[in-house]
Amino acid sequence: MSTVDNLKTVKASLPENVTLVAVSKTHPADMIREVYDAGQRIFGENRPQEMRDKYDLLPHDIRWHMIGHLQTNKVKYIAPFVELIHSVDSDRLLAVIDREAAKNNRVIDILFEIHVAEEETKSGWDAEELREYLESGAWRQYANIRMRGLMTVATQTDDEVLIHKEFSTVHNLFTELRGKYFGPEFDTLSMGMTHDYRIAVECGATMVRIGSKIFGARDYTNK
Ligand SMILES: *Cc1c(COP(=O)(O)O)cnc(C)c1O
Repeated sequence: MSTVDNLKTVKASLPENVTLVAVSKTHPADMIREVYDAGQRIFGENRPQEMRDKYDLLPHDIRWHMIGHLQTNKVKYIAPFVELIHSVDSDRLLAVIDREAAKNNRVIDILFEIHVAEEETKSGWDAEELREYLESGAWRQYANIRMRGLMTVATQTDDEVLIHKEFSTVHNLFTELRGKYFGPEFDTLSMGMTHDYRIAVECGATMVRIGSKIFGARDYTNK
């Protein structure tokens, strides 16, 4: 199957109200171009410099989403053009995004990354930590950021009951925070990857991030 056939299969499996982020990390610009030519416009990357290089090479109506852990000193590479940062995990990062967005006369959309997985290595806020942070009001100072929702990565497991439980927990938190702090503009719940996106959609995801099912396996050997 070609990347374009894969894209069609994935699109056909998604309800219309669920947005697809095609995760193109590690794949070359010409493969992204094939998927772009088939109509896909939103692409996800997890390394700022790689995203910036691809931004330079590819059509500028591509909407680039940062989905990987973002170091504060690298925000500057993507601030001029990034559409949505999924992986915001600290107030410190928010402060830098706000500053870099202002320098570029932009308002940048972000998601708070929630940590629900059993792996300690995964980043993000614990639910309680984020509740306390939002209650503190510190985030209200960031005029150049729009908080659009939540993102999560579930535990890497075949246990579908556990994955379902984790996605439901994040969906409930999303509903709670939208009602309490944000309103209708807080409209994005990014969860689900190749192996678990169907469960994520059942649990209320509005955005899924799919890489290998579209582009095939990633090759990290020459990275
Ligand atoms: C790589 C990655 C994906 C896509 O993973 P696939 O299993 O290839 O679909 C989604 N989300 C995040 C945060 C990723 O790092």
